[in-house]
Amino acid sequence: MNIAIIGAGATGLTAAVDLLKAGHHVAIFELNNKPGGLAAGFKAPDWDWSLEKFYHHWFASDADVLKLGDEIGARDRMVYNRPITVVFYEGKFYQLDGALSTLAPSAPWLDKIPLSGTLARGLLALKFPGLSLLDTIRYGLLGAYLIMTSNWQSLEKVTAHEWLSKWAGPTGYKVLWEPLLIGKFGEDLYRQVNMAWMWARIKARTPMLGTFVGGFQAFFDELAAYVQKAGGQIRYSTRVTGVERSDEGQWQVTHISPDAGQTTSNYDKVLVTTSPRLMAKLAPQLPPDYLSKLSDLKSLGAVVMIAALDRQLSTRGFYWHNLPKTAGFPFLAMCEHTNFVSSDHFGGQHLIYCGDYVPVTHPYFNMSDDELCATYLPSLKRFNPDFDPSWIKQTWVFRESYAQPVPFVNHSRNIPSLSTPLPGLYFASMSHVYPWDRGTNFAVRLGRDVAAQILKG
Ligand SMILES: Cc1cc2nc3c(=O)[nH]c(=O)nc-3n(C[C@H](O)[C@H](O)[C@H](O)COP(=O)(O)OP(=O)(O)OC[C@H]3O[C@@H](n4cnc5c(N)ncnc54)[C@H](O)[C@@H]3O)c2cc1C
Repeated sequence: MNIAIIGAGATGLTAAVDLLKAGHHVAIFELNNKPGGLAAGFKAPDWDWSLEKFYHHWFASDADVLKLGDEIGARDRMVYNRPITVVFYEGKFYQLDGALSTLAPSAPWLDKIPLSGTLARGLLALKFPGLSLLDTIRYGLLGAYLIMTSNWQSLEKVTAHEWLSKWAGPTGYKVLWEPLLIGKFGEDLYRQVNMAWMWARIKARTPMLGTFVGGFQAFFDELAAYVQKAGGQIRYSTRVTGVERSDEGQWQVTHISPDAGQTTSNYDKVLVTTSPRLMAKLAPQLPPDYLSKLSDLKSLGAVVMIAALDRQLSTRGFYWHNLPKTAGFPFLAMCEHTNFVSSDHFGGQHLIYCGDYVPVTHPYFNMSDDELCATYLPSLKRFNPDFDPSWIKQTWVFRESYAQPVPFVNHSRNIPSLSTPLPGLYFASMSHVYPWDRGTNFAVRLGRDVAAQILKG
């Protein structure tokens, strides 16, 4: 078979690996001039490693991407460590998640005992002033329950707001859980997100975080090279503008590139890995039921400012800072990348991300980059009172309209099938990743699932 894949992100590239392995011809069309999609990076002239445009790390539990790393011979460069995550509460930062050995650095073996992560959460919570002893016990029990249960199906029937208000208690919910939900989904949507989404975050995430030697871009460059070596063709800087089924049952993919202009090529099957909105635009022949499922899928955009500083911002070495919107920060998270990956790889520069998830109608999508930086930068003093704007050597702003799917109650019923009602046309996007929260690991799994369907169909 001749198969076209739209998108050289984690989903499209992984699907290509399996389709090529099964002996088919694969052509990938990619809008950008490099692979990686949302996880792609860029490199300033004096950096040895690339930096992801949007903060990225892997979890130790990301089995699918680790397995893919093995397959393409890149596993030895998937490196893990334990950066520190903190939450802001009444003017200070507190660690609530981490390895058990954070509390007893001389006993690293503690991290190997069963449920060590849960135990660490409980002990760290005891040191957190926002919770009474009773709230802390509830927090610990609730975390343990969420880790132990696998029954996300019952949790998707209820909103996270209702479930956590009931089980975490009023203080636990207000202080810990509600800020997370508001931060991620905003005031308008957070009460509608289902509890399976929160379950998945607690269940699948580990304090151990990973990256790739050279940055995520280096990983995707290797994956793309593997695909090409197996016979796959990747056409970069090529925008697909339409996918149409001919009377003969062939799939005609129309694409535009600076070299070749507008061209139409024929395929037996097509896999689209873009946003649902773009899928609907590319394939208007889809039946109304499927199109309306696509348009019902809700998502948020992401806006990120990266700043290169001449010194460390969080001198306590914190990597990830969760920020409640009520505390007046103009972004949801500040992530000091070089407290996770050494600044030696970035010419000694210290790199921070300030990021937020907002609807595409939010002013952050219309501001100029300078206006956005002017909105974000004054807050940096709250991470380090000595901060001075002269520390900043360069800034970058990245925006993405399809960044975070929003799962409502009973979301599993709303996900469009991977195999569309039009024979030979397949669709796999971040909105299909469920109940897990989107991530490159789950994109890899999705790529494998959709490839299996293509091979079967
Ligand atoms: C702010 C942010 C933080 C994240 N943090 C993490 C993290 O820490 N860890 C993690 O694992 N994951 C993280 N993710 C999620 C991760 O990036 C995604 O789940 C994953 O990259 C999705 O891969 P994909 O292939 O499904 O989609 P994409 O990466 O979006 O790939 C789709 C591809 O299609 C291409 N395309 C679009 N339109 C066209 C067209 N018309 N013609 C041709 N090509 C087209 C795009 O350029 C893109 O390359 C994060 C995402 C965001 C936005």
